[in-house]
Order: sequence, then structure tokens, then C-alpha cells
Amino acid sequence: MSGIDADSIPIRRSYERDVVQPLKKWNGGLVTEFNNVTYGSHVYPLLAMEYLNVFVPKNSTVLISGGVHGDEPAGVYAVLDFLREEADQYTDRMNMIVLPCINPSGFEANKRKTMNGKDLNRLFGTGSDQPEIRSAEEYLARLQMRFRITLDCHEDGPTDEMAEEGVTGADVPPGCYVYENMVDTKRRIGRALIHALPPSVEVCTAPIVYGDTNDQGVIAYPEANGNPFYAKGTSFDAYLLDHWTDHSLTMETSMLWSMEKRIEVHRTWIRTALDLILRERVQ
Ligand SMILES: [Zn+2]
Repeated sequence: MSGIDADSIPIRRSYERDVVQPLKKWNGGLVTEFNNVTYGSHVYPLLAMEYLNVFVPKNSTVLISGGVHGDEPAGVYAVLDFLREEADQYTDRMNMIVLPCINPSGFEANKRKTMNGKDLNRLFGTGSDQPEIRSAEEYLARLQMRFRITLDCHEDGPTDEMAEEGVTGADVPPGCYVYENMVDTKRRIGRALIHALPPSVEVCTAPIVYGDTNDQGVIAYPEANGNPFYAKGTSFDAYLLDHWTDHSLTMETSMLWSMEKRIEVHRTWIRTALDLILRERVQ
């Protein structure tokens, strides 16, 4: 990457140890390396875990993702823990595509952005040649799947990487919340995800979160949108909504909590969402 000495960027955790090796060790699904991305001497494989069962109804395929922002690791760990310990309780009844870490260089550097300074959640659907974006878009295009739901695990907390959007550490709302994109109000599950949390988990009650309307932990799109950056539709959830689903969620835990708590909240949300979808199909 021109102008960036990636090898001078401090490494805070290991993508190989935390993501690649665990994925390759489990044989529940098919590990697919859909591309790789290079920064200096670092070469990161971009990985998906695919659970595709021809006997499962096609309209119950889900997409679960994490690590779009590299300094939000609980989503990555939660997705991996879910794959290791719980996925097999679902994969006989639903198909699953899992992208555990979309931004490996940010994950290793513990930065929101990639090692060449790109916020991936502002580049989807823009024709960007950023390799993580192009690779994910091409992979999804090859799959040609409509997802019943997409779940993207994020975290919220103080960062110095959002200054260009006018966000400082003081703007960070306390507690967790979810963005839900679903036009049909009857099919929304955001409220159920918040209700599934134990009382010890603080839910964000701020009426406005980064310009969007928050109703006790649920930011319900399209009507809640007030944030001009999200209005551009260049986040991963908006891209998925445009192309591959009619129901996309972005789930946010607080980076001020312990890692264990953050992971547990994401796992509760993933499990609750999948249970609701299975129940809906039975009815
Ligand atoms: Zn994020």
C-alpha cells in the first residue's frame, strides 16, 4: 500500500492465532479463503465459514459477520465462540455463511480502520477498490444468496478514528444497542434482542445516538435515520440490504465493559435471532 509503512504499525493481537487457526481446526463447516490482502510483509487470508445443506429451506440462510472495525474484537471472538460451541445446534435447520473478521489488518493493529487508513463501513457499494471491500462484494456476488437475515457484530467506545465524522470520545453513548433495517414493522426483532439480555446488561437509553433516533436500545431503520454518514448507505448492513437481504442488523456492545460481557451479549443476540427465525418458519 503506497505511502504506508505497514511493518511499522504495532501489532496488538494475532489474526493467525485467534481467527485462522481456530477456524481451520473445526470441521463443522467449509472454510473458504475467498481472497487475501497484503500490507507490507503481512498477508491476511480473507475467510468465510460456509454451512450449506441442500436439505435446508433456502429461505432460512443467515449471514453472520464481525470485525469490520478492527478495534471491536468482541464481535470476532463471539462469532468464533458461537461457531465452536453452538453452530451445530442450528446447521441442520438453517444454512449459514459466516465472515468472522472482515478487517484482519485492523484487528491485528487494534484500529477501527485498515492498515492503509480506510473505514470499511463507509465504502460498501461505492465501487471501492479497497481489497477487503472488493473481495467481500465479489464473494457475496458469487454466492448469489438471499439471506433471511444478516447480523453484523460491532462495538461502540471511545476512538480517535472518527474525528472526520465529528465524533469524539465524549459522544459515545453508554450501554448496548442494535441497528435494525427492516421496513415491515411486524417482522422486526430488535426489541426481542434487547429483551433477551439479562438485567445486568446496560441498554443504551440515549434518545439520539450519533444523530439517529434510539428507542431504548433499538435504532429502527429506515425511519430512525438522522446520521448523514449512514444516510449514504455505504455501511455493510446497508449494502446487504441493497443487494442480498431485506433484514439486516448491526449490533453494538460497549467497549467499556469486560471482554467476557461483550462476547456474551453478542452470543445472546446471535442465538436469539436464529431462534426467532426458526420459530417463524415453524408457524
Ligand atoms: Zn463498528
